[in-house]
Amino acid sequence: PTFEAMSLKEDLLRGIYAYGYETPSAVQSRAIVQILKGRDTIAQAQSGTGKTATFSISLLQTVDTKLRETQALILSPTRELAVQIQNVVLALGNYMNVQCHACIGGTSIGEDIRKLDFGQHVVSGTPGRVADMIRRRNLRTRHIKMLILDEADELLDRGFKDQIYDVYRYLPPSTQVIVVSATLPYDVLEMTNKFTTDPVRILV
Ligand code: AMP
Repeated sequence: PTFEAMSLKEDLLRGIYAYGYETPSAVQSRAIVQILKGRDTIAQAQSGTGKTATFSISLLQTVDTKLRETQALILSPTRELAVQIQNVVLALGNYMNVQCHACIGGTSIGEDIRKLDFGQHVVSGTPGRVADMIRRRNLRTRHIKMLILDEADELLDRGFKDQIYDVYRYLPPSTQVIVVSATLPYDVLEMTNKFTTDPVRILV
């Protein structure tokens, strides 16, 4: 398995190699093709497996950078993780002219509004602030094609269920959903059943 075989955009492939990745990890080989087919996907994968690049590569392949609207939204349980994901997206998308904003609590709302009004192809955030920005209509959801719930078990353990369901209600019905979780307890499966249609399940 190679990244070339995934038919990725030339400028994305260049970003992947420039970042130092040579061959896909197991979860990348198995999940990226399914996600790019448009399938809702549940990946049971822990940190260290290459899960972040799995969804980052997939969403970068999917966004149209000529359209300056949010097209991919990632929710994660901590501010630190949301910023790490933003950095991976920006690094892999280094040759793509992609705008990716970290929409997290504890930062200036005014700055969030300014960045979102400018137009962000990708938003990586924590559920509370993202829900807030959607309600204020600064984060426009009309063009969102992909929702990623990273560390879904952790998201629910931290009590973000209501905010996540809130965010989901604003997304277009056709939004593709990708759930990444180390474990699949009942509440994660319940959410997955609500948000996905005929999902592919990948266990690494
Ligand atoms: P993650 O599972 O997202 O926490 O990633 C674990 C580590 O693996 C990170 O340091 C990534 O930069 C690295 N990594 C992810 N994919 C690859 C790859 N295809 N080749 C080499 N390193 C990778």
